[in-house]
Amino acid sequence: MRRKLVAGNWKMNGGLASNARLLDRLAGEWTAAEPRTLAVCVPFPYLAQAQAALTGTSVRWGAQDVSEHAAGAFTGEVAAGMLVEFGCRYAIVGHSERRQLHGESDAIVGAKARAAHAAGLTPIACVGETLAEREHDATAAVVARQLAAVIDALGDNVRDAVVAYEPVWAIGTGRTAAPAEAQVVHAALRAQLASVGAVEVSILYGGSVKAANAAMLFAMPDIDGALVGGASLDAGEFLAIGRA
Ligand code: PEP
Repeated sequence: MRRKLVAGNWKMNGGLASNARLLDRLAGEWTAAEPRTLAVCVPFPYLAQAQAALTGTSVRWGAQDVSEHAAGAFTGEVAAGMLVEFGCRYAIVGHSERRQLHGESDAIVGAKARAAHAAGLTPIACVGETLAEREHDATAAVVARQLAAVIDALGDNVRDAVVAYEPVWAIGTGRTAAPAEAQVVHAALRAQLASVGAVEVSILYGGSVKAANAAMLFAMPDIDGALVGGASLDAGEFLAIGRA
């Protein structure tokens, strides 16, 4: 069964007091009867706070990145096993900000997905084209290449992953892919996953998702939910996306 998931990516935002308000509201208002899974991917230092606030609730939590290594001399890195100790369910890998600002290659993203999975986490593997790639009609080739690296790294275990299609030009810009345009890419990703037997992988859309546009996106047959940046910092907006 494809899981319906709305995951928030707080990016490098938050503080103990504002997190507490946001987490308490999500914990109080999101019930087990909701149609989707709701999760927040918080900065590493706030994982313990998320764990304390969300344990025993219907809201899940995770990290925004993970090391491809299990342990050792990797200053500044955080291992998947450490995330598990803080109750994480998810780790985002290959977010475009990591690819662009930290030079993460397809191979590194694949290795991170493998490390996350090996520790028992669900990797949320992000793929997406830049504006220049889109203008050169390279969207299909770019996302296929990025997903192929994740499939290569995970093998059959790709069945346990979540994929997020996030056109880079739509992230944090207020521009969203038209639902029909996003659907075309999601259908291609779905076919690529189906070709390796991974028909049940959830494919999220990400890029300026808000309460106002979520329902139209979720109405598309191959969009199983959303990865939400800015709007996940606003409890009312995020809850409304979860329920859209
Ligand atoms: C993201 O950071 O993954 C994202 C989709 O951001 P935003 O919703 O702000 O565009």
